[in-house]
Amino acid sequence: MCVLYDDPVTGYPTHYARDDLPRLERYPDGQTLPTPKGRDFQAGTLLGSVTGELGLRTYLESQGHTLVVTSSKDGADSALDRELHDAEIVISQPFWPAYMTAERIAKAPKLKMIVTAGIGSDHTDLQAAMDRGITVAEVTYCNSNSVAEHVLMMILSQVRNYIPSYNQVIQGGWNIADCVARSYDLEGMNVGTVAAGRIGLRVLRLLKPFDVKLHYLDRHRLPEAVEKELNLTHHTSLESLAKVCDVVTLNCPLHPETEHMINADTLKYFKRGAYLINTARGKLCDRDAIAQALESGQLAGYAGDVWFPQPAPADHPWRSMPHHGMTPHISGTSLSAQTRYADGTREILECYFENRPIRDEYLIVQGGSLAGVGAHSYSAGNATGGSEEAARFKAKAKA
Ligand code: NDP
Repeated sequence: MCVLYDDPVTGYPTHYARDDLPRLERYPDGQTLPTPKGRDFQAGTLLGSVTGELGLRTYLESQGHTLVVTSSKDGADSALDRELHDAEIVISQPFWPAYMTAERIAKAPKLKMIVTAGIGSDHTDLQAAMDRGITVAEVTYCNSNSVAEHVLMMILSQVRNYIPSYNQVIQGGWNIADCVARSYDLEGMNVGTVAAGRIGLRVLRLLKPFDVKLHYLDRHRLPEAVEKELNLTHHTSLESLAKVCDVVTLNCPLHPETEHMINADTLKYFKRGAYLINTARGKLCDRDAIAQALESGQLAGYAGDVWFPQPAPADHPWRSMPHHGMTPHISGTSLSAQTRYADGTREILECYFENRPIRDEYLIVQGGSLAGVGAHSYSAGNATGGSEEAARFKAKAKA
């Protein structure tokens, strides 16, 4: 069972803006890119939407399996709920997550594996998966650098006041003062990341040439050589990081320990006029506290591409709050990233069907407990509470 986002409203693309993708050999830490035995799609094509089918149909049907692909994922009348009874594997992407709650897992007696075609398995009730012995896997690193690029774009667009200035042009205006009254240089600012994992460390590296002062908060400290190379200040609490930073970027997974880590109380630690960038998960932040901090001026700007739930209802306050630079969840699903996570999903499926071990770096839950990358970066429990709200988007769209 594969849950994917809808095709473009103009239909599945027949041609693309570019002809090829750069060829990457390895990720920055030496990890190899996915190594499936085969590929039945052209690199750089749209794979994450329903017609793209993650390029899996030929492979799965050649092995005698049935592939059901749908975008209908929320509410009791969804295709996902209707098919769960027969599903052995559920695949979805964080951009359009199949929320695999305990209730849904209970409705799927044959379910053996839940795969994230991407990174982040918080849309699955990990506790319920552990209790049922279901494997949870994701394609670690496939889009970490894609997200880091998006973070950089959002930091610059907020600090330089890009979006309102772009809108001046679109609207036929030329009021320079309107554009620059909230525009600053990034140079010299203190910039901090919550978590220095694959994305967080890449963000720090990309920021280095801007001559900013770099900070990070992480449970595990980076090697001394990296701290020296990037001239990093390590913090052991959000309070200590937020007090000194002009820009804070969130790059940790969502799990019970990090849920709502940014709330009305912790926002008080931030410098007045700080920028907060969140491409990690919407639920790391208290939704209303963010909107209020922008209205009061405690935050000068908030940008990111992650929401809770997804899709966000039309009346979600982050669509209309002041000084935001939100996009729908796109940072990790560039065409470049899609090729990598489609390959990675195929690799995971090949391992599963051939009874070969799935790479440790792709495992979140296995054999009833957190495993692989999951044991390092997640905590046990459930962060899917409230996800049924996603059905409101569909209800609104139909009205
Ligand atoms: P990594 O596993 O490489 O890094 C996660 C880091 O978060 C680890 O260094 C981990 O630290 C740290 N961490 C976990 N809990 C805490 C905590 N309580 N406080 C501080 N740090 C913590 O993952 P990635 O960097 O590749 O991805 C990070 C997250 O970004 C994903 O889980 C996902 O939610 C999100 N993401 C978003 C995408 C998008 O499209 N917008 C795409 C890809 C990812 P430790 O060393 O202690 O384990």
